[in-house]
Amino acid sequence: MQPKVYSVTEHDIDHKLVDTDALYVLERLREAGFTAYLVGGSVRDLLLKKTPKDFDISTSAQPEEIKHLFQRQCILIGRRFRLAHIRFGHKIIEVSTFRSGDNESDLILQDNKWGSPEEDVLRRDFTINGLFYDPSTKSVIDYVGGWDDIHTNTLRTIGDPEIRFKQDPVRMIRLLKFRARFGFNITQEAKKALVKCKDEILKSSPARVTEEILRMLESGASASFFRLLADSGILALLYPALSQFMKGENAKSLYLYLACADKINHNLGKKPLDRPILLACLLFPMFVDAMHKNFTSQNQIPHMGEIIMQTGSTVKEFETGAFARFPRRLVAITTSVISTQYRLTPLTGRKNHHPKVFRYKDFADALVFLKIRAIIQKELIETYTTWKSLYRQHLRHGDRRGHRHHFPPPHVRISHVANIAIT
Ligand code: ATP
Ligand code: MG
Repeated sequence: MQPKVYSVTEHDIDHKLVDTDALYVLERLREAGFTAYLVGGSVRDLLLKKTPKDFDISTSAQPEEIKHLFQRQCILIGRRFRLAHIRFGHKIIEVSTFRSGDNESDLILQDNKWGSPEEDVLRRDFTINGLFYDPSTKSVIDYVGGWDDIHTNTLRTIGDPEIRFKQDPVRMIRLLKFRARFGFNITQEAKKALVKCKDEILKSSPARVTEEILRMLESGASASFFRLLADSGILALLYPALSQFMKGENAKSLYLYLACADKINHNLGKKPLDRPILLACLLFPMFVDAMHKNFTSQNQIPHMGEIIMQTGSTVKEFETGAFARFPRRLVAITTSVISTQYRLTPLTGRKNHHPKVFRYKDFADALVFLKIRAIIQKELIETYTTWKSLYRQHLRHGDRRGHRHHFPPPHVRISHVANIAIT
């Protein structure tokens, strides 16, 4: 099939937004006689006038040929799905060879069958993610109708949605992710397929589901994403306890925390809040609920030991029956971020600025989380600013051992984040 090609006069991609290292890789591949294009999320983002997070490249060069061209700068990764990573300091440009694949079969068995550019995009998930950008001619190459769909805000699977969701159920989560991020409309066929196939999510890889969820927490659109996930019924399959909580009357506070994290992440741009802080946004409302049920509603003030136990129980409740668990280390830091809140804002109301608290390994994250609480509950602003300046002094004068965490907390003024809208 002949693709539609949109020339430089037809699109308004700002070529300057394309990463110079990615351009270098594309140029080297082309000079060596290979075809090489930008593909996927970066082309979509460039057309949407958003700064792309990463720049993936598809090429006719095979992994060994890429390795030969870039030598030590390149490492080949993945056994089943071989990819080349070209390193530029900490930055990595991912280069993959055009592949073909049986789009109609239930299971993806063989991922290393090389193919043409057209076959390569036909394997991708949504039409908006199936465009190539050729920097040598500055043109957009479209085999799948992605151009029209981007310009009409449409989310459409490449191929039959039911088959594509069954083949890889993570695509259903990705569908909701792009809906949340861009507000695009899902086609009727894909909506129907989502209802029909949602249970299939339990056949996917938990690690991939976790990664998509964590990336969504970082995305700046997590509140609307979790709402979509809950409405679709997928949340109940993945995290039954959280889904139950979100049906209750305190769900509103969860959306407030997520909306607040979204606003901050928007302002922070490329480097979002740490994952333990984001996971704390998801779990803290459930935890506060449990604290109220088990202690404060009975006029009991729990001591620190009981608070730590309660954090553990909330995490356990969240994980009971969960399909995709979060990594242990991440959960451990999140737990500490949550329980440290009660050292910063003790339930007794007593102000105790004991410097010992600064020595907790995860103190910087706990302080950022207190900031989020202060944005939501204005009466905590003063407490937050006091802790912040004490911590600053401590870092300046006190012992600095063990403070690996970034500080100061992300540079977002509380006033910038005021008036969180519940989306
Ligand atoms: P983001 O901005 O979140 O990175 P993205 O579209 O770039 O969005 P990636 O996970 O980085 O998402 O994937 C890169 C590209 O790989 C996608 O644009 C899409 O073309 C393809 N892709 C990713 N996941 C799938 C999948 N499950 N099935 C088919 N194609 C996929
Ligand atoms: Mg990407």
